Amino acid sequence: MTVRLRFEGREIEARAGASLLQAWLDAGLPLVENVGCMGQGVCGACHVLVRRDGLAGPDEVVRTALACETVVEDGMEVFFVDHASARRPHHYDLRALDDSWTAFDRVPEIFPEAAHCRHCGGCDRACPKGIEVERMVGLASVGRPVEAAALFDECVMCNLCVAACPERIDPSYLGLLVRRLVGSTTLRPADLIARLREIGAGQQRVDVDAEISDEEPRAASVDVARGEGA
Ligand code: SF4
Ligand code: SF4
Repeated sequence: MTVRLRFEGREIEARAGASLLQAWLDAGLPLVENVGCMGQGVCGACHVLVRRDGLAGPDEVVRTALACETVVEDGMEVFFVDHASARRPHHYDLRALDDSWTAFDRVPEIFPEAAHCRHCGGCDRACPKGIEVERMVGLASVGRPVEAAALFDECVMCNLCVAACPERIDPSYLGLLVRRLVGSTTLRPADLIARLREIGAGQQRVDVDAEISDEEPRAASVDVARGEGA
């Protein structure tokens, strides 16, 4: 069974159940940008705008999404989105932020714009990972970076929230800062250790033909007794 959709202005036919990224490749179209992890949903490079068929008038909504995680639908219209850069570089030296009693106090100093959040919710609507971005910005700006960092566990740095923010707060970079601070002043997360070991051992699997699944990904775990990741 196949479906028809428009991708970057081209009419293409795709097998039902394929991801948008698979459909693009199956159509023989070249990937010259917006290419990263090739289907694993971890790099955030393949951000797209999607309009679904059947939505019209006041219900017509264009959504942001990741092409590798979104299943094709008949009548869809899809465009790749350029990467949004940070408004400005946020300079900090993690080695100088090693005092866990005071390190978190520096967040408002490094990101003063976070206090200007207008609570418009644009970042939440833009996030393809369903992260409570606005809440993270609020928590980080009032000195609660541990809770803020936990909210950002699934962030893939696609920067769609950066593009959406009218105050140019650069939420993804604020999330990166709080995660780095928490990571550098506490024990490292077990899933991060396992992932880095997999990459170091050349076990990072890339399969562009993988089935798309709605199931939650299996959590990585570390065998503490043996010191091995799984
Ligand atoms: S928080 Fe921002 S950068 Fe992270 S996944 Fe969501 S939209 Fe992308
Ligand atoms: S888009 Fe920017 S201003 Fe709006 S809620 Fe998110 S961080 Fe705040």
